[in-house]
Amino acid sequence: MIRSCISCKVKKHKNDLLRLTVANGRLVVDHRYNIAGRGVYCCMEANCIHLLMHKDKQLARALRADILKFDRDKVSFVTELMKSIDEN
Ligand SMILES: [Zn+2]
Repeated sequence: MIRSCISCKVKKHKNDLLRLTVANGRLVVDHRYNIAGRGVYCCMEANCIHLLMHKDKQLARALRADILKFDRDKVSFVTELMKSIDEN
């Protein structure tokens, strides 16, 4: 399946993109691509992940969420994302 990055719009195979979705009302990374529901995709690249920080409204709309909630906060979320791409 081909999906496009919400930040840079480049199209890639979904396994080459991070999948973000909402679980229990919070934005999460779907590392196994198996969480049901709407998802958005983002390149595994620092630039695109940083751009996500400015896309709350767009993310919320794409995920059909009224407001984006995070387990802790947005900065921690993005920090975790950056760590997860470093490990790959
Ligand atoms: Zn991108």
